Amino acid sequence: MSSADPLTVTVTFAGCGDAFGSGGRLQACIHLRADGAPPVLLDCGATSLTALKRCDLDPGEVSAVVVSHLHGDHFGGLPFLVLDGQFAGRAEPLTVIGPPGTAARLHAAMECLFPGSSTARRRFAVQVRELAPGATVHAAGVQAAAWAADHPSGAPALCLRLAVAGKVIGYTGDTAWTGSLIQVAAEADLLIAEAYYRDKNC
Ligand SMILES: [Zn+2]
Repeated sequence: MSSADPLTVTVTFAGCGDAFGSGGRLQACIHLRADGAPPVLLDCGATSLTALKRCDLDPGEVSAVVVSHLHGDHFGGLPFLVLDGQFAGRAEPLTVIGPPGTAARLHAAMECLFPGSSTARRRFAVQVRELAPGATVHAAGVQAAAWAADHPSGAPALCLRLAVAGKVIGYTGDTAWTGSLIQVAAEADLLIAEAYYRDKNC
């Protein structure tokens, strides 16, 4: 491949189900891999470690997780991902990009599920970057821009627009219709749209 060739971003839907296991599907976990770069996860639902391993995707390679909102089916897999890295001897840092409140909720989730795990000594750092609606974060090779979603989750919920290796990926997360989705989707290479009900809000 010449340097002029565009990079490819491979998107694997390791999980795309709801919180309730409908159809036997696993929860939100979208794996983005650009040529020659460590992969990034878009959301990390509670079942994500299983989802990745079923797809033969190495959780230890994931450099960043971008979280749309703080419901368990979108961020509840993070404690398992962190502990898997700890027990597998991971050395590379893990960046978590999520809405305001992510650091506190991740700490609480780790202490609830595995007491003492939030302060355990690890060979790698877990860096949390909080991303408010209207803001943009650059970290771990990904640029994430956020808009407010219409979806109560105890913290601002986000619709996201990621730039990875020159490709733009829009992600609705869980949201009722909001005009922000037009900006999230505008001229994106890919729009990932979650859908649950057509006729009622949830
Ligand atoms: Zn949700």
